[in-house]
Amino acid sequence: MSLNLKDYVASYPDFPEPGVLFRDISPLLENGEAYHQATNQIVDYAKKLNVDVVVGPEARGFIVGCPVAYDLNIGFAPARKKGKLPGKTVTATYGLEYGQSSLYLHEDAIKPGQRVLVTDDLLATGGTIAATSRLVEDLGGVVAGMAFLVELVDLHGRDNIKQYDILSLMKY
Ligand code: 5GP
Repeated sequence: MSLNLKDYVASYPDFPEPGVLFRDISPLLENGEAYHQATNQIVDYAKKLNVDVVVGPEARGFIVGCPVAYDLNIGFAPARKKGKLPGKTVTATYGLEYGQSSLYLHEDAIKPGQRVLVTDDLLATGGTIAATSRLVEDLGGVVAGMAFLVELVDLHGRDNIKQYDILSLMKY
């Protein structure tokens, strides 16, 4: 029997600042069955898209993307914050729901023409995943799809990533 994954998302009003309702996926990660179920759903999606590699932004994009890559026996490339990657990188700057940031990807992480699944825990305004996708495309990769555990529909993130195929397991 499948679990209702929403039972494994906690909600924190006014975190990290007043007016923000933070959706926390920690309970899902801490429950083996729920984490497995969520991962399997994304694996099934990625199989249909025929992806060659998974890319996720620091830090929760790793938590979603790595088990998917492992299951598919393909690689995972981390999109990291400033000053973390030792090799030559491409970079993209983006606005967050709260603040601004930049992401970096090693230049040799993606080969031209490779089909990429980008993953993150949550889709809010879409800024983070759009920046991650720009990095992939700068290197000649094809963003075959995007997968999230949670989508905050009121923030209309999909409007900023209309050109992509999107899977979100839970909508709020
Ligand atoms: P966006 O760039 O789509 O506006 O914001 C999504 C990014 O911010 C994701 O990387 C996500 O981890 C983080 N984020 C923003 N709001 C929340 C939230 O309510 N819960 C969680 N878990 N992450 C959030």
